[in-house]
Amino acid sequence: MRKQIAAANWKMNLTLQQGELLVEELLKSTHDLNENQQVVFAVPFPYLVNVKKMLAGNNHVFVAAQNCYNKVSGAYTGEVSAEILKSIAVDYVVLGHSERREYFNESNEMLAEKINICIEYGLKPIFCCGEALEIREAGTQNSFVENQIKESLFHLSAEQLFGFVIAYEPIWAIGTGKTASSEQAQEIHAYIRSVLASKYGNEVADSISILYGGSVKAANAKEIFGQPDVDGGLVGGASLMAAEFAAIIKSLK
Ligand code: PEP
Repeated sequence: MRKQIAAANWKMNLTLQQGELLVEELLKSTHDLNENQQVVFAVPFPYLVNVKKMLAGNNHVFVAAQNCYNKVSGAYTGEVSAEILKSIAVDYVVLGHSERREYFNESNEMLAEKINICIEYGLKPIFCCGEALEIREAGTQNSFVENQIKESLFHLSAEQLFGFVIAYEPIWAIGTGKTASSEQAQEIHAYIRSVLASKYGNEVADSISILYGGSVKAANAKEIFGQPDVDGGLVGGASLMAAEFAAIIKSLK
């Protein structure tokens, strides 16, 4: 059975002190997670070591970096490599968030390189994809997202993709308060899974957790996560509030 995941993307928010208080509070909501359910905190780089320490002994909660560089090492001032992240025992790396694609020009090809390096160092990517409003309005979201997946993931082997994590995040729903309806989410998640199945077969496609992201909150999480092809969420704004994110964790299937 594939993993159900509630992932918090703090982006560039919270001080270390605020973040630690939030994690401390939220850890109380992770006691009754089952073996299939996970909580992930994608926190700013400088907090990774502290947050990781707070998770010691908890088998259901993990830490994620929000990015890493597409080179192994060297003279890239200000960048952080997969090897560095591995050395501090980071579990996951969020790759290809739409904000990275938009503000830092991350292309599908560059993301393929980042994915390769993460896999090489034993880090688990959370690969983000999703379309802008114009694409949704033109009705071409399926082929757009399919292309993102093909260009960044289809060079991987079935073994490398088994148990992988993808986050579908329509850009028009990120931080806007607009959420895809549960039908819209299910429709495109099922499409993504069918694209994966057409290349890798059903067993691999069924092992991949596809998270929904875009204005998930306590009030809508249960319905969205309840869709058969939605395996949890990648949550921005609502993950900064303890009560909201605790309710989102409780909405996992
Ligand atoms: C995100 O940052 O990935 C996100 C989905 O943000 P929000 O939940 O605030 O829309």
